[in-house]
Amino acid sequence: MVLDNDSKFHTSDISTIKGLGPRYVHSFYKKGIFTLFDLLLDLPFRYLDKTKLTKIADAKIDGSYSLIDAHIVKVNNMTSSRSRIFKLGLQDETGYLEAVFFNLPVNFTKQFQVGGRYLVFGCVKFNDFTSNKNIVQPNMTRLNESEIIQLEDRLSPVYHAVEKTPQAVIKKVIHSTLETMQNFPFEELLDNKHNPFKISFNEALYNAHYPVAQKDSTSKFILQNTQSFKRLCFEELVAYQLTLICLKKKNETKTAYKLQVNTDFINLFIKSLPFSLTPDQMKVFSQIADDLSLEKPMLRLLHGDVGSGKTLVAVMSMLICANNQKQSVLLAPTEILAKQHYNTILKFTSGLNIETTLLTGSLKAKQRAEALEKIRSGKALIIVGTHSLFQPEVEYKELVFSVIDEQHRFGIDQRVALLKKAPLGKTLHQLVMTATPIPRTLQLALFSDLDVSTITTVPKGRKPIKTVVMSNEKKDFVISRLNETLKNGNQVYWVCPNIEATEDNDESVTTSFNELKNKIKGYKVGLLHGQMSSDEKDSVMQDFLDGKISVLVATSIIEVGVDVPNANIIIIEKANRFGLAQLHQLRGRVGRGSLDSSCVLLYDKEDCTDNETAVKRLQIMRETTDGFVIATEDLKLRGPGDVIGQRQSGFDIFKLVDVRRDFELINDARSVACDLIENDIEKVKKLIARWFKNFNL
Ligand code: ADP
Ligand code: MG
Repeated sequence: MVLDNDSKFHTSDISTIKGLGPRYVHSFYKKGIFTLFDLLLDLPFRYLDKTKLTKIADAKIDGSYSLIDAHIVKVNNMTSSRSRIFKLGLQDETGYLEAVFFNLPVNFTKQFQVGGRYLVFGCVKFNDFTSNKNIVQPNMTRLNESEIIQLEDRLSPVYHAVEKTPQAVIKKVIHSTLETMQNFPFEELLDNKHNPFKISFNEALYNAHYPVAQKDSTSKFILQNTQSFKRLCFEELVAYQLTLICLKKKNETKTAYKLQVNTDFINLFIKSLPFSLTPDQMKVFSQIADDLSLEKPMLRLLHGDVGSGKTLVAVMSMLICANNQKQSVLLAPTEILAKQHYNTILKFTSGLNIETTLLTGSLKAKQRAEALEKIRSGKALIIVGTHSLFQPEVEYKELVFSVIDEQHRFGIDQRVALLKKAPLGKTLHQLVMTATPIPRTLQLALFSDLDVSTITTVPKGRKPIKTVVMSNEKKDFVISRLNETLKNGNQVYWVCPNIEATEDNDESVTTSFNELKNKIKGYKVGLLHGQMSSDEKDSVMQDFLDGKISVLVATSIIEVGVDVPNANIIIIEKANRFGLAQLHQLRGRVGRGSLDSSCVLLYDKEDCTDNETAVKRLQIMRETTDGFVIATEDLKLRGPGDVIGQRQSGFDIFKLVDVRRDFELINDARSVACDLIENDIEKVKKLIARWFKNFNL
């Protein structure tokens, strides 16, 4: 079979790239980049502008980079001092600029001589102390006196860090893959009439990596505002809509199991709870119960802010199945969450004699075999787990209903994989749950295949969370206050950005852990991050739940769903690096019990070149706890240089799209998708294969 170019990019592993050694390949894998296609979609997060020269007098001091043609007029070698600072005085016809270097090898500094002409590239700042402009650690290229400078005509990409891989290597492999693309271009899948941007896929992708410099570039270049980028998102949205339409069509040809709803049984259960259900929980539960009692498959989205009590509604729905002696599954995105749901269900159903089973990737062989057997024999009626639930070796006796928690964490292909566990010729009733705050109109477009239920009220008795925003300079003050409050038995989350090698490489959660361990006196400090083994994570989480650990230092791994009602303080370090939606999720970890709760957002002053926007964004968290308001404001305030990655946008189902940013494209994408389904099934297949290659019905 001859592969088309699309398939080649999808099937070629990055290890086939010449000059990319196994060690680097592994680092890319760790970031989820496996194929040439993945690599091409790893778009830059900022750009360097070497398309024009700037005079020293005109160099901006706003954090942007300048390219300057200057002569050395002074060499100040202070290598004898402890800090090994090396300074150069630079001059052009408009002014003077000081270049500062740290720890340069002495031999290296010798090349710089008074009178030498250099092309200097870096970030110019104003030094209050010397009243000079200076430029720290610039890139210096030697020029001959008469040399004519060849300026670049496109911006140069800077990519997200890949562990232990120099930026130059990342840049080189992506560049060579783009060259491959120019020789073997992707097929154009959007006809003119379906392409409002009139830019081809190949051109758009190339432009996204190497944009043509803007003529009047007074404002900073933002990839996400370009036609090229929108063109790519548009195509991804079309493909996404196609998967929804296909899934819906397929589902309509099948029936689901019709369940009897035993009202007495349910009422008894509700009475056994230590609290009463909120009116919204009741309303939504009865919508679900109605759906389950029909042969028509339920396809419902349960939408409710963090802490609104979605889990309980899901459990009650699963009880309907168990009461019919049928199986249901609850799928969670992380092991911690699966385990927590499992324990919650055990607790709520303790008197009911209903077998509940946990299935996750980390079960020991023996436990796993037991769990699989219970699932196969039908003994287990309620099954809770992670991705393990839809692996091929898991056989269900008669699965009728699936619940997906935090559904934005799962791709549509995973939903399909789970559906395949339905008995032959049947399909599942499906409930998907999310706390992602998106407007109703968007929900309709985005989940056009789903009915939507919403919980807007939160359980009674919750106290508002007090939120403060502070600079990281106050960190020691915060720690000393913590030492005070821990005396009252409070439990604390201390959250740091995820462990990920970055250029500055300073954001290790372990560093904060060690610091807190030293500074918190008399209380146990625990550490939790994604790179620990599942056993380690479990035992730390259990100790925190049991109150043995007072301060839990963690990455945003605790963001989804973790429920420790006694924890009432959350401190988020480098809060400016999180998306607001994510901060909202994190803050939702506290304020779950009846204690007074607080949230401290520490922003990193160094990070915030555009200090005002960063702080303003965080202030929104202080002003409201309404997830929807937060999401809307977040979007408005995403300023230049705001590098919120896909991971932090709260939606993992897309490669490029952020629905809260790109929602204006959704309706048009939907029309194109509908037209394609009617008229061009070949293109439909190709679009789905390009963007959602694991989706197979
Ligand atoms: P989320 O919607 O974020 O998933 P959870 O289901 O985790 O919220 O519920 C948060 C907490 O509220 C849990 O500890 C749960 O037991 C509790 N809870 C749920 N329903 C109620 C209720 N009606 N009254 C009081 N507490 C409730
Ligand atoms: Mg939840």
